[in-house]
Amino acid sequence: MDYQTILNEIKTEVSPLLNEGKVADYIPALADVDPEQFAMTITLFDGKEYSVGCSDTLFSIQSISKVFTFTMALKLYRKELYKRIGREPSGNPFNSLVQLEYENGKPRNPFINAGAINVTDSLISFYKNDKITYEEILKFIQAISKDNSIKSCDEVASSEMEHGYRNLALANLMKSFNNLDNESVNVVKTYFKHCAIEMNTKMLSRSMMYLANNGTDPITKLEYITPSQSKRINAVMLTCGHYDASGDFAYRVGLPGKSGVGGGIVAVVPNIMGISVWSPRLNKQGNSLVGTKALELFTTKTGLSIF
Ligand code: GLN
Repeated sequence: MDYQTILNEIKTEVSPLLNEGKVADYIPALADVDPEQFAMTITLFDGKEYSVGCSDTLFSIQSISKVFTFTMALKLYRKELYKRIGREPSGNPFNSLVQLEYENGKPRNPFINAGAINVTDSLISFYKNDKITYEEILKFIQAISKDNSIKSCDEVASSEMEHGYRNLALANLMKSFNNLDNESVNVVKTYFKHCAIEMNTKMLSRSMMYLANNGTDPITKLEYITPSQSKRINAVMLTCGHYDASGDFAYRVGLPGKSGVGGGIVAVVPNIMGISVWSPRLNKQGNSLVGTKALELFTTKTGLSIF
């Protein structure tokens, strides 16, 4: 398949849409980004990589980081993890408080904010310290992306903290239900720090290889998680990775994927490749508008969806 030609065609076809949608301005430091950028990368199992657009430009990975923290927590706690977090789609916005109250402080899944904050809490309990926890998360992301230059942006992390009332509310609500071990402020700070990690589409597409290959990096042959854990993470990405637009994403794209409000999306074609796309303007549910369209075009043109 001529992947480069397909990526070039996608870039041309999405360009009229680049002015649609809105950047995430509830995090002021994120609103500064040039909103009409586009990048897409795919990485194959033999290490071949194809890109289009500004695939070297770093952006805030935001909720894509939740895939990595969930991986770490599932590896450490196995099914014990589900005592504190569910694995069902929420059908609600990513930062909603309402369902968490009804369901006694147990978040629906690890990808909505409450669930991801809870996952970060479980990691802090394991590593005993929030600073070490962040360092372990960063080390894991650097390892699977094969890039030690990856780091968090302090400006974005503090901007999130300054405006993070809702996330703090989610943490406090869980704490009130005895479903948070550590102090809310420390947990939320660590959560913001991993959300503020910056990567480009080349790094992110590379980082998906272990999930595309049953838990083992197909290039280095390192086993990060078991095939069964990989299957489960992919399932949660498919059903919950795009919040209340997860059904729409599965319908249009047909791949396990995870979005972030920085405008990035990662996706997995099982046994074939990792994909990442980036364009900052978001749809109503907080997922990259052009990114979703680009992935839809990709699976339509290549036939590489799981369905
Ligand atoms: N850090 C962001 C928040 O907590 C992550 C949200 C997202 O990417 N959907 O609001």
